Amino acid sequence: KEELNIIQGALELRTKTVEDVMTPLSNCFTIHVDAVLDFNTMTEIMESGYTRIPVYDTERSNIVDVLYVKDLAFVDPDDCTTLKTVTKFYNHPVHFVFHDTKLDAMLEEFKKGKSHLAIVQKVNNEGEGDPFYEVLGLVTLEDVIEEIIKSE
Ligand code: ATP
Ligand code: ATP
Repeated sequence: KEELNIIQGALELRTKTVEDVMTPLSNCFTIHVDAVLDFNTMTEIMESGYTRIPVYDTERSNIVDVLYVKDLAFVDPDDCTTLKTVTKFYNHPVHFVFHDTKLDAMLEEFKKGKSHLAIVQKVNNEGEGDPFYEVLGLVTLEDVIEEIIKSE
C-alpha cells in the first residue's frame, strides 16, 4: 500500500505543476524591503518559523530578494540594522519559476541549484496594459517531496 502510494506520487510528478503544490502568496510570510531589524521585527521573523523569507518592494507580489534566517546571526536588534544592509551583504539570488513547471523538472532544478525555494510566477496578459510577471506563491523542495510521499 505505502509503496504503491509512493510510486503513484512519483508518477504524478510528470503531470502536476508547481502551481498545484505551491504555497499561495496570500499565505506566504514575507517582509518589506524597507523593514528595520529591530526587536519586534526579528521576533516576528523567528516566530514565523520559516527559514527563507521572500522580501517584497511596494506590493507583496513584487518579490525582490530572499532573506535566510541564518543571515540574522550577526544582527543585534539594538543596532536597528536595515534589512537592505543584510540582503545586500549576502545577496542571495532569487530563483523564479513559471507556474506551469512540472514537478519532475522542478525536482531536477532543486537538485542542481543551491536554493530549495523558488518564487512561482506567470505572465499576466489579461486586461489592457502590457503583460507583466505576476507572482503567485512560493514552492520548496519540501512541497515536491510531500507530493511523492503523501498518503491518501
Ligand atoms: P526548512 O525545513 O529548510 O527549515 P522551512 O520549514 O522554512 O524550511 P520548508 O520545509 O522548505 O520551509 O517548507 C515547508 C512548507 O512551508 C512548504 O509548504 C512551503 O511552501 C512553506 N513555506 C516555506 N517558506 C514559507 C514562507 N516564507 N511563508 C509561507 N510558507 C512558507
Ligand atoms: P537548510 O538547507 O535548511 O538551510 P542545511 O544546509 O544546514 O539546512 P540540510 O540542507 O538539511 O542542511 O542538509 C544538507 C547536508 O548537510 C545533509 O547531507 C546533512 O546531513 C548535512 N548536515 C546538516 N547539518 C549538519 C551539521 N551540523 N554537520 C554536518 N553535516 C550537516
